[in-house]
Amino acid sequence: MRIGIVGGAGRMGRQLIAEVLDHSDLTLAGAVDHPNSVVKNQDLGILAGKDATGQLLTTDTESLFQKSDAIIDFTAPSATMQFTALAAQHKIIHVVGTTGLNAEQEHLLQQTAQVAPVIYAANYSVGVNLLAGLVEQAAKILPPEDFDIEIWEAHHKHKVDAPSGTALALGKAAAKGRGIQHDKKAAYARHGHTGAREDGTIGYSVARGGDIVGDHRVLFAGLGEQIELRHTATDRRIFARGALRAALWARTQRPGLYSMRDVLGL
Ligand code: NAD
Repeated sequence: MRIGIVGGAGRMGRQLIAEVLDHSDLTLAGAVDHPNSVVKNQDLGILAGKDATGQLLTTDTESLFQKSDAIIDFTAPSATMQFTALAAQHKIIHVVGTTGLNAEQEHLLQQTAQVAPVIYAANYSVGVNLLAGLVEQAAKILPPEDFDIEIWEAHHKHKVDAPSGTALALGKAAAKGRGIQHDKKAAYARHGHTGAREDGTIGYSVARGGDIVGDHRVLFAGLGEQIELRHTATDRRIFARGALRAALWARTQRPGLYSMRDVLGL
């Protein structure tokens, strides 16, 4: 299976190139980045911290899509919109890891999904997807009048969106477990005289600093007891591996919009 990487010069892009090069069932079709990227014409192997491959990072997106069976995309929302239109045009698998997409942008992924498989996940780690399943189950069992749900997340200082897509996915899993609408119950910020906590809300808090890869905690705070479910990522490799697993899984799927929980059968 031939894998094309967009955003190849990025933190995730480099990790993805390295994982594809190490994978026996996958071939690296190539990698592109933005014309404004400071990294240009670099050998993809060197870029990924490995031996030279003779393939260079380019800006020729069209030819990358022509020679790929799947595109893996950890870039930025506006770029992902261009890439999903191209994936639809070429009828190839689009694995989307970009976070911070708005509702309209998410809707556009559904259009591509009518002609080719699209996998869209805020977090490609197997552990985080298991965590979402556990959060949904816990939220179903622990009633809102007895347990308050608080989600805390921390990431490196370069992250531009907050709360993280993963934190929101965990909040949505909790809302699903409780049979409530997430967007009506989410409480994103507290400052000053906030008043007492409203029952049934899902609170978020965010930390940013250093090189934290990703830390997520979901607290169910009751009277006299607390339960905390937590996932800590220490290496970006887990997201790259999950995205490749998703691409391989999608090879045998009909067109449609899928999540990582679909890929893992959770
Ligand atoms: P980054 O800034 O290091 O890399 C993004 C890359 O995309 C950059 O090299 C940039 O030049 C490139 N890019 C932007 N627009 C482009 C365009 N139009 N054409 C080609 N290349 C373009 O960021 P990162 O840390 O690698 O994260 C990228 C995205 O992935 C973010 O949205 C982040 O939140 C998300 N992410 C998701 C997961 C997950 O599991 N879903 C895990 C980690 C990061």
